[in-house]
Amino acid sequence: YNPYTEIGRLSSSLNTMLSHIEKAFEVQKNSEVKMRRFVGDASHELRTPLVSIRGYSELYRQGALQTDEAVATAMSRIEAESKRMGQLIEDLLTLARIDERREAENKPLDLLNIAIDAAQDAFATAPDREVVVVGLQDDEEPGSAPIVGDESRIRQVIANLMTNAIRYTPAGTPLEIAVGSDVSESGQQISRIQVRDHGPGIHGDEKQKVFERFYRADSSRTRETGGTGLGLSIVAGIVQQHEGTVEVLETPGGGATFSLDFPLQTEVPSSTGSLRA
Ligand code: ADP
Repeated sequence: YNPYTEIGRLSSSLNTMLSHIEKAFEVQKNSEVKMRRFVGDASHELRTPLVSIRGYSELYRQGALQTDEAVATAMSRIEAESKRMGQLIEDLLTLARIDERREAENKPLDLLNIAIDAAQDAFATAPDREVVVVGLQDDEEPGSAPIVGDESRIRQVIANLMTNAIRYTPAGTPLEIAVGSDVSESGQQISRIQVRDHGPGIHGDEKQKVFERFYRADSSRTRETGGTGLGLSIVAGIVQQHEGTVEVLETPGGGATFSLDFPLQTEVPSSTGSLRA
């Protein structure tokens, strides 16, 4: 028994413990600051439409809206602002649910089916757009891309990306949804889905920033387009929950490509719908 080696061993494990504790506190401190900022941003975003709703209704009550036209304008502003509040609350609830990891399903899905449905849905909302489902490479057909996850959340991810692709690109420009399986740079088998547009694209540090909560690229430009600034943070949250990754690339010839990778699902679903090892 050597007390010196024992002390050395103890102090080194104490050191390791301390650095773990420090790290834990750092994480906590960070998330506390982030949480406070998030709550602040959320109340600010909710207060803005509320202030204008209150303003218009006060004008009405005071009899300051003297023509039918002025009343009609005020009413349609109130309607638009309350819709905006509704969308914000909806998005905030979605984010809260993702954060809590509640009610997430874990079922085998194929991103190919989701891509085909998303292309059809886009035709209903934006009939002027050509939306095609393509393969990952130019000379490839769209391929099966099996994953395990929560179907309605994955559908929401693709719907958010499609809404943005339609919203932030010129009318009439085509969109592509590329889907298939591939091998990642680290050699892992992955299922990949990409939403490609031919708009202005996303450049420099905005490639990271667009995933932050409430971030909107050019507020004067985007304010009119009616988003909440939460769509892509919902995308990032859901993708992370599925152990996937999301990044923004440049579409060849110009535009934004949102590229999502998920672990490829290789297990065969059993007849009961649960997974076999
Ligand atoms: P929202 O669309 O509600 O503003 P998002 O989180 O969905 O919020 O997007 C954040 C910002 O990223 C948008 O305000 C827009 O400036 C930018 N953006 C998103 N998608 C695209 C796209 N396909 N092309 C160009 N810019 C985009």
